[in-house]
Amino acid sequence: MCGVIGVFGHKEAAKIAFFGLYALQHRGQESAGIAASDGKLVREHRGLGLVAEVFNEKVLNNLEGHIAVGHVRYSTTGSSTVKNAQPFCVSHGYCTYALAHNGNLVNAHFLRTELEKEGSLFQTTMDSEIIVHLLAKALKRGLIEAIRETMGLIKGAYSIVLLAHDKLIAFRDPYGFRPLCLGMLNGGYIVASETCALDLVQAQYIREVAPGEILVIDKNGLTSYEGVKSERLAHCIFEFIYFARPDSYIYNENVYSFRKRLGQNLAQECTVEADFVMPFPDSGNYAAIGYAQKAGLPFEMGIIRNHYVGRTFIQPSQSMRDFSVRVKLNPVREILRGKKVAVVDDSLVRGTTSRTRIKAIKEAGAYKVNMLISCPPIRFPCFFGIDFPTRGELIASKHSVEEIRRYLDLDLLHYLSLEGLLKAAKKGKKNYCLACFTGEYPIPIDEELDKHIFETTKEV
Ligand code: 5GP
Ligand code: MG
Repeated sequence: MCGVIGVFGHKEAAKIAFFGLYALQHRGQESAGIAASDGKLVREHRGLGLVAEVFNEKVLNNLEGHIAVGHVRYSTTGSSTVKNAQPFCVSHGYCTYALAHNGNLVNAHFLRTELEKEGSLFQTTMDSEIIVHLLAKALKRGLIEAIRETMGLIKGAYSIVLLAHDKLIAFRDPYGFRPLCLGMLNGGYIVASETCALDLVQAQYIREVAPGEILVIDKNGLTSYEGVKSERLAHCIFEFIYFARPDSYIYNENVYSFRKRLGQNLAQECTVEADFVMPFPDSGNYAAIGYAQKAGLPFEMGIIRNHYVGRTFIQPSQSMRDFSVRVKLNPVREILRGKKVAVVDDSLVRGTTSRTRIKAIKEAGAYKVNMLISCPPIRFPCFFGIDFPTRGELIASKHSVEEIRRYLDLDLLHYLSLEGLLKAAKKGKKNYCLACFTGEYPIPIDEELDKHIFETTKEV
């Protein structure tokens, strides 16, 4: 998972990109980077850590120019080293290119092997580098044609911003797996993963970058080209459930309202006897509000989130995860003592953080704990950019809802049905990728790839 931003036509483009990345920080905390151009020279700065740790005034002042692209990273392929931080910058034929990619290719292994056979040398383990190689190989036919050809070869999820010398280019896979939107700022343009980045810099939202579209922004303005035909859409529904920010609009819908509807649909499916409804904050807040309003139950914050937990605590090892749960969330004894509660959360992935938190609210005095999850059981891994690592680690892939209820020590556990989830969506079922729930992947996943992705994720 990652966040991307592109800016064209602002005299301090890198600063605008920096603010945009600040708004997109939730999409990746491992590394951040910006490349800027004055139409002649491209300068870049990348580093491991949060946006505010990687950049300061001095660094930003050095990133001169009216064009910029930026990236925040949450790795799904390739390990967390500064080498793998984006934007990915290369020089080719007297031009410099800087590419920032959100998504995950499913034929990266195949493409890389083919390219290496032909003599390509790779500097990183990122699938984004493959895209740059394919582009360079086709450049003799012109930039647009090169992008079109590349889009024809790469399979999977990609929302990409590309700084190409004196142009800003955005292109998105034909399924529209990951969000990407277009905005305007004082006559200039901004492309960003989510609209919350436009809000922060006071840009006006124009529209989504269409699935399959290539958008070119240069001194002549904005031109749209068809990259590849979009046969069907497969918007990641988990962006709505968990990943995107609630104040954003993605796929033309507001995330907060979507999550609230999930909670309302949960209340229609399952009413529980409880003194109050409480979320596991922050991700569970919006569905919990929807649930409480629909069920006519009071809403309380029975557990408090510490917001000053640094990135050390987002490290993907098991022991760090266990510790991070206690650091991050602390129950309020006064509120919980002697109470029956309905806990709402957005999703269960491994079940480990939930188990610790449920134990904690019981120790704080809640004597009956019912849990409602605002999505169906996650049974299948994601190959399109969400960090659901291996089938084995997904608790619902191996265990029944009843087994999970017992493991979590709950009085009741209810997952929202697939119908309940789709009822919250404005578009029909065929427009979304639901593979983590159904196992039906919009692009066929072969077993070899399955194995390969499992290996690369282990390395992360
Ligand atoms: P679990 O109990 O399964 O260990 O953790 C569930 C929590 O993980 C939920 O509160 C949910 O908000 C959060 N979550 C869901 N998906 C992801 C993800 O892709 N990355 C991270 N870091 N957390 C997630
Ligand atoms: Mg959560």
